[in-house]
Amino acid sequence: MATSARYDFVIVGGGSAGCAVANRLSADPSNRVLVLEAGRPDYAWDLFVHMPAALSFPIGNRFYDWRYRSEPEPYLHGRRVYHARGKLLGGSSSINGMIFQRGNPMDYQRWAADPGMATWDYAHCLPYFKRMEACLAADPADVYRGRAGPLVLERGPASSPLFGAFFEAVQQAGYQLTADVNGYMQEGFAPFDRNIHNGRRLSAARAYLHPVIGRPNLDVATRTLVTRVLFDGTRAAGVEYVRGNGAPLQVRAGEVVLCGGAINSPQTLQLSGVGRADELTALGIEVVQDLRGVGENLQDHLEVYVQHACAQPVSVAPYLKYRYRPWVALRWLLGGNGPGASNHFEAGGFVRGDQSLPYPNLMLHFLPIAIRYDGSKPAGDHGYQVHIGPMLSDARGSVKITSADPRSHPALRFNYLSTDQDRREWVQAIRVARHILGQPAFEPFDLGEVSPGPEVRTDQEILEWVASEGETALHPSCTCKMGTDARSVVDPTSMRVHGLEGLRVVDASVMPYLTNGNIYAPVMMVAEKAADLILGNAPLPPEPVDVYRHAAAPPPADPGSVPAPPRVSEPPRHRAGRIDGEPAEAGEVDRPDAKRRP
Ligand SMILES: Cc1cc2nc3c(=O)[nH]c(=O)nc-3n(C[C@H](O)[C@H](O)[C@H](O)COP(=O)(O)OP(=O)(O)OC[C@H]3O[C@@H](n4cnc5c(N)ncnc54)[C@H](O)[C@@H]3O)c2cc1C
Repeated sequence: MATSARYDFVIVGGGSAGCAVANRLSADPSNRVLVLEAGRPDYAWDLFVHMPAALSFPIGNRFYDWRYRSEPEPYLHGRRVYHARGKLLGGSSSINGMIFQRGNPMDYQRWAADPGMATWDYAHCLPYFKRMEACLAADPADVYRGRAGPLVLERGPASSPLFGAFFEAVQQAGYQLTADVNGYMQEGFAPFDRNIHNGRRLSAARAYLHPVIGRPNLDVATRTLVTRVLFDGTRAAGVEYVRGNGAPLQVRAGEVVLCGGAINSPQTLQLSGVGRADELTALGIEVVQDLRGVGENLQDHLEVYVQHACAQPVSVAPYLKYRYRPWVALRWLLGGNGPGASNHFEAGGFVRGDQSLPYPNLMLHFLPIAIRYDGSKPAGDHGYQVHIGPMLSDARGSVKITSADPRSHPALRFNYLSTDQDRREWVQAIRVARHILGQPAFEPFDLGEVSPGPEVRTDQEILEWVASEGETALHPSCTCKMGTDARSVVDPTSMRVHGLEGLRVVDASVMPYLTNGNIYAPVMMVAEKAADLILGNAPLPPEPVDVYRHAAAPPPADPGSVPAPPRVSEPPRHRAGRIDGEPAEAGEVDRPDAKRRP
């Protein structure tokens, strides 16, 4: 990297969003683009990155993971929750679970209802979702899915006996199958799309960066930690960075684009003097812009595993045993197939924990093994489990630096389980999971619930168990939210930080609210759309499409009981019409053919 050179764009963080932005900005040969990534390259030989089934190995390993820990969580018995974050090219997309979920279209109607956010409704986001993906399972005429983007998506086969039992059980429990959770109808159960292609993880680095890394106008530097943004007055002029234990260096740029993720981007802003003035001054940091929203509004998904022991030898547990690992790895290396080629998150679904809700608020992943996400605590030999948790929690936290040292981790406070809504939805979530796993379809396999176990019954016992066992689903976000209200940080029409020139943020931190599902796909959509905003391109025209909206029912009389699931007809594959721009409200009759509010 030529440090004397001046770049048009410096991208801080070669992670998920950073790789997409680097690709799009450097497509114009007249733009000189530099990517600075704190972690190492995603070496082609690295089995832990590229073999899908190895997904738990990088977690907790300093060569791949920032290894954060929350502050003691007041509603989780003071537990400090471990937070993995990718620290290598591709960022978290190089170590994530590869599950691809857009979220519910209504999530974007909610975004668009905030001040200044009108162009982030689903109709405006859909063309970018489509531009970024090549969904192999989609029909070429499918108006909801893309067929030619860089992110190739393979749908999970979900064909083993345990997946068969799962699909049967959800129907016995009264839920519906859906053709595609990323298409017309999210609500229901289906095989999941995954960022896996030809048996390998297809990270953002592999999909967006490596194919263009030879462009003469694109430079990529790894093992380079950006320590702060440099300003001329209120205009960003470049960044300061360090490599190893070396002295700080500087690089000048016309524009700085922060893509460090929901923890690092607010941290970098605060270190650079952008944040709450009183807090920065207390740490001896000179204030460039007093912006109270920086690091606020932190949101995440908490999840638990409802696990059962399995009576038949049909789970994937044996492949994790040390004696089988060389065979799994060799088969994957030689043929790109076998158990190593799957993330095993092949199916799941979305339900409403309360029938009065306008759209689903619970996500379930089914896994044909009983084990924690980081690979620890396998529950006996054969087993299966559902990962579940509320997706639209109203708990809010913060990311705050505690010193001016850029190598110190900021304080992360999530406040999981801190609200009535959160606690209510958690009880519903566990009851829904148990209702499904208790259906006759599982009888041939079921050796009993291992976790939480039959002794956990009452609402209070359930909440106690969640407080003790809940883990992050690894979706921290929303800490530099887009919007125009006093708490927003980023202008939704340009991605510029309010009050400053030449400084933009593009990553999970700009989401105003979490979406109903895993968040990699929304982050990549944001990156695609942001690239057009930064380049001043004409935005892709909005695509109003019809999406499934159920008829709302009154809440159940007994809030502790398992909610009666909806019976809906098979969705049409394509329908004409449009969703309106208004967010649905609880209790509203909420069907495409229903009369709209004026
Ligand atoms: C273990 C794990 C499993 C997950 N599973 C799923 C899943 O299955 N499906 C899903 O949809 N989502 C999943 N997620 C979440 C999803 O991957 C992330 O939300 C998303 O990738 C975040 O993208 P980002 O661009 O905001 O940040 P990242 O992809 O994390 O990129 C940030 C990059 O910036 C770099 N960086 C940060 N600070 C600096 C600095 N100061 N200087 C230089 N470089 C810096 C980082 O090293 C990193 O490479 C998972 C996340 C994790 C960690």
